[in-house]
Amino acid sequence: HLEVKNLSADYGGHKVLNDVSFTVDKGAIVSLIGPSGSGKSTILRVLAGLLPPVSGEILLNGTPVNYRDRGDVKAVRDCLTIVFQQFNLFQNMTALQNVTVAPVKIRKRNRKDVEEEAVELLKKVGLGHKLNAYPDQLSGGQQQRVAIARALALKPEILLLDEVTSALDPELVQEVLDTIRMLASEGMTMLTVSHEMGFVKEVSSKVLFLDGGCIVESGSPRQIFDHAEELRTRQFLGKVL
Ligand code: ATP
Ligand code: MG
Repeated sequence: HLEVKNLSADYGGHKVLNDVSFTVDKGAIVSLIGPSGSGKSTILRVLAGLLPPVSGEILLNGTPVNYRDRGDVKAVRDCLTIVFQQFNLFQNMTALQNVTVAPVKIRKRNRKDVEEEAVELLKKVGLGHKLNAYPDQLSGGQQQRVAIARALALKPEILLLDEVTSALDPELVQEVLDTIRMLASEGMTMLTVSHEMGFVKEVSSKVLFLDGGCIVESGSPRQIFDHAEELRTRQFLGKVL
């Protein structure tokens, strides 16, 4: 359970998040939508410990996280794992090595156990036949599924997905969305940023519409997509739907 209260963040004094509050309940899929530059990625970056917030409070399972404390940041990275638009796989490692490296090297877990789990995870995302392939031997959709398996290998409590399909050719988008659907059906908690509005409407428990660093409106997919109250929300949806 994640609670974000009055979060503000900036880049070098330029304010990009202004008093953002929301919650992500266990098992929920919360989707952030909004125009380019509205601050969607920044929210995920702050939560993942990549950018310290200026003010506000973030509670993980009821406990406040101090993002200026290295121990806290490390703990939060164990719970919240981010997957990026550009998969950022290690090019010199196979799919299997990409998935096992962090649990073995950073978490110091037993290699054999981790490898067994990694094989299962790669099978689960449909890549049981590509364990020993290098990233440049995989399609974009396959690389993104390796990246998702790599994130899952860290057993995150909440998966943060930042436009994981945006860099993909249209015909490869569905296979990655199917992987996310499967995780959703298993009860994985997720906070996602997506431009795939049909998908957002289908899978989300809650949708947050962000503009200019503020949450303008939030609600169920039905409330946001069919009954938005704010003009800005309707204007945005009018452009993207
Ligand atoms: P997009 O849909 O294009 O990915 P976004 O909603 O994810 O947009 P952010 O990446 O969170 O938007 O950016 C929010 C604001 O912060 C923008 O005005 C952007 O220019 C600025 N910004 C983002 N990253 C940096 C950075 N590293 N340094 C300075 N400013 C940044
Ligand atoms: Mg972004």
